[in-house]
Amino acid sequence: MYFFQDRYVPKEEIAVSPDDRGYYFGDGIYEVFRVYGGKVLEGKAHFQRFQRSADGVRIQLPYSAEELNSIVHKLIDVNQIADGIVYMQVTRGAAPRAHAFPKQSEPILLAYTSEMERPLDTMRKGISAVTLEDTRWLHCDLKTLNLLANVIAKQHALDQGAGDVIFHRSGTVTESSSSNFMMVKQGELYTHPANNLVLHGITRSVVLRLAKQLHIPVHEQPFTLEQLQLADEAFLTSTTSEIMPVVQIDGRAVGDGIPGPVSRKLQAAFEQEISELT
Ligand code: PMP
Repeated sequence: MYFFQDRYVPKEEIAVSPDDRGYYFGDGIYEVFRVYGGKVLEGKAHFQRFQRSADGVRIQLPYSAEELNSIVHKLIDVNQIADGIVYMQVTRGAAPRAHAFPKQSEPILLAYTSEMERPLDTMRKGISAVTLEDTRWLHCDLKTLNLLANVIAKQHALDQGAGDVIFHRSGTVTESSSSNFMMVKQGELYTHPANNLVLHGITRSVVLRLAKQLHIPVHEQPFTLEQLQLADEAFLTSTTSEIMPVVQIDGRAVGDGIPGPVSRKLQAAFEQEISELT
């Protein structure tokens, strides 16, 4: 069962208008919630970010946070999702194509669930990544449907035989195509500050909280590709990839070329966090 424009409906019954502004302009926002054992991890933080993205692009959310929360839970229940995701998006609605906001259009909500296994094997082994100039706009903190640069970047990585990209702006590392990025140097953790150049990842904040609990010094400060070359460990963080070690960058091993001790310690703490979900 999906949720589309005020109704729970089977996917086959959904008819999206060709005039939907999401389709013409990518004029919308979205969230991805992670479900473990039927429970949502960090639901409140995701709803807060959804509202922040909506405010950032001046879309009026068609439902209150409580209503959105019950849609998420109802979908998990009816679709009997144990481990998976809930995808939720709101577009500005359908109106004849014109750039300016339409005078009359109702924002349209789409939400659905999908079963998804945790990437346990890949998290044990790690992935390789390639660096790429970050050509996205300057509102990467808003989770919008405008993902073309991210899509092209991900394909670029796959074409090079890598798992993902590490974006940089003129040599300053920002994040990955659909994850935040962190490096470890001499036991200390570094990641780009949560400003307009990166998404304020929910997993990023969980990992920073866990790091502090584990007495791992945390630096939310920009670092360069040169500094990254000297990293002992590196990893991506995201709702679906969790804490994903990056063991090779541009063909060179990161540290020993295997997931390092700080990454594994954080993975273990994250695992504990999941097991304590109520
Ligand atoms: N950066 C980008 C560009 C992303 O698309 C995502 C996830 N969708 C993230 C970071 C990670 O955010 P989160 O931990 O909230 O999934």
